[in-house]
Amino acid sequence: MSATVFPAPRPVLADIAGSKAKFPIRRIFCVGRNYHAHAAEMGVRVDKSTQEPFYFLKDASAYVPSGSTIDYPPQTANYHHEMEFVAAIGQAGFEVPEAEAESLIYGYACGLDMSRRDLQFKAREKGHPWDLGKNFEQSAVLSPIVRKQDCGTIHEGAIELRVNGQTVQQSDLKRMIWQLPEIIAHLSRFYHLQAGDLIYTGTPEDVGAVKSGDVLEGSIAGVGNIKLSIR
Ligand code: MN
Repeated sequence: MSATVFPAPRPVLADIAGSKAKFPIRRIFCVGRNYHAHAAEMGVRVDKSTQEPFYFLKDASAYVPSGSTIDYPPQTANYHHEMEFVAAIGQAGFEVPEAEAESLIYGYACGLDMSRRDLQFKAREKGHPWDLGKNFEQSAVLSPIVRKQDCGTIHEGAIELRVNGQTVQQSDLKRMIWQLPEIIAHLSRFYHLQAGDLIYTGTPEDVGAVKSGDVLEGSIAGVGNIKLSIR
């Protein structure tokens, strides 16, 4: 094996509920505006008959396991929570028909797509990429992945986030504009999906700012719980 000039990055490994084995994270895809009420609070309307879903990515290195305490991130004064349903891909697929899309799913998790909203909006206004607002260190929080073989296929269920014990986000997965099979079919036209890819499926409404000292606790029915503390 060739020497490397500095230590090669270690694989990023997510926990799996009820298993000692780890899930190596490859890419993190995120769906934008996948609930009408959230699109509306962002000042945008989504018409599914004329629009397609859109995506941004986060580096695998942005992964933070549930239960972590993280620092308030730099260069923002409007650091937001987005509670999301996440699919973990366990099998490769390209141009996957919608009817077969669910066979790619290894499992599900709760996710927090932590966002520097001020930087995201600044980029949006200028037509710039969203990376500074979305793809930064410790911005992809993830609960242990529950295997589909254990929980079955999930299409609906309550999704909720509490900040310091107060419920701030509350919806149901059935309100997603594009459901997982549609997302996987669409995304796989543009990328060769691979085992290890994660898909954050978008946040419901009532995103909001968090501050130092806050404790975030989320849950999705049939999937599990997620917790994050801000130092
Ligand atoms: Mn999001």
